[in-house]
Amino acid sequence: MAIRIVKSLIFIFVFIATQVTAQENYKDIKEEKSELTFRGGETYPVKKYKHEFKVVKPKNVIFLIGDGMGVSQVFAGLTANGGNLFLQNCKYTGFSKTHSSDDYVTDSAAAGTALATGKKTYNGAIGVDPDTVPLKTILEEAEEKGLATGLVATASITHATPASFIAHQKKRSMYEEIAADFLKTDIDVFIGGGYKHFTERKDGKDLTVTLKANGYQVLQDMEQIAKVTSGKLAGLITPEHPGRAPERGDMLPVATETALNILDNDQDGFFLMVEGSQIDWGGHQNSTIYVVEEVLDFDKAIGKALDFASKDGETLVVVTADHETGGFAVLNCDPDKGKTKGGFTTGNHSAVMVPVFAYGPGAEQFIGIMDNTELNQRIWNLLLD
Ligand code: MG
Ligand code: ZN
Repeated sequence: MAIRIVKSLIFIFVFIATQVTAQENYKDIKEEKSELTFRGGETYPVKKYKHEFKVVKPKNVIFLIGDGMGVSQVFAGLTANGGNLFLQNCKYTGFSKTHSSDDYVTDSAAAGTALATGKKTYNGAIGVDPDTVPLKTILEEAEEKGLATGLVATASITHATPASFIAHQKKRSMYEEIAADFLKTDIDVFIGGGYKHFTERKDGKDLTVTLKANGYQVLQDMEQIAKVTSGKLAGLITPEHPGRAPERGDMLPVATETALNILDNDQDGFFLMVEGSQIDWGGHQNSTIYVVEEVLDFDKAIGKALDFASKDGETLVVVTADHETGGFAVLNCDPDKGKTKGGFTTGNHSAVMVPVFAYGPGAEQFIGIMDNTELNQRIWNLLLD
């Protein structure tokens, strides 16, 4: 009898022990497979730039938008890169309120339109007001005043954020109509994906033929694009969206540098918008890994902008987001390894304010809490009034 009890106890003990171990193993496996932890990677050195400028009013503006980049996304990138980001060169910081005209939680089209035109509109609107009436964008106004202009993105160039600066359509999904709107402008350089929206169209037109007739170099290869230093350039590197950062490599920093080389030829100054498009997609996927990779890639593009601005002395750099994505938080980290654990509260956008960072002449205006429309007005007044 006693032996049977002991045997049963041993059995129960072993059973419990196995279950606990199994659960621990299961946890480990889940943790390893989970996208919630960025496990560290190669870090890159970050330069410090001097804060001495030749003018008080900028001749050029580089406007960088991290799609879906809230404070936590920035901090996750900062943690993963060993506590350093190029972004930290921006001494003036503030917050932007992102709500659209019809929703406390904006989408990228309404937010892009607010940042491009200074007017709130409904979710899904591209460069039009709540009554679908076209609104003039800062890029169009810059062109009219004789400045050079450019757009760079890691999404299709016809996607909501870049589209808001150049197109006027009632719905963000009207990619072919948005592509056609590029030809109504005199934009000097645009680099991103979306080749097929110019070539495989319902109307049977090949817009790249018209672009070439209008003097554009139309290129699909990033190595060739990087060699262009003058003239007009349409860089359409993929049929739709470019891949994630590890796949597309240094496309965004190189495209930013290329655009700056071209735009710098204009003596009247320029307006360039650069988008880190896929930070948002990492948020939608609830992937800390995706978010961190995209923030670090975007920060390298910010580094190219700061490098140019610090040498030039007449360039204002403003960095912000259109909205936050994922309700993301940084939960823990191992700073020596750059291991960063994140958590998400939604698969959608959140309503929270997003950070604003500025460097260069006029940067001191970008402090405090402002509406995304005021952010546009401040840039507009500094560059174009
Ligand atoms: Mg976007
Ligand atoms: Zn989104």
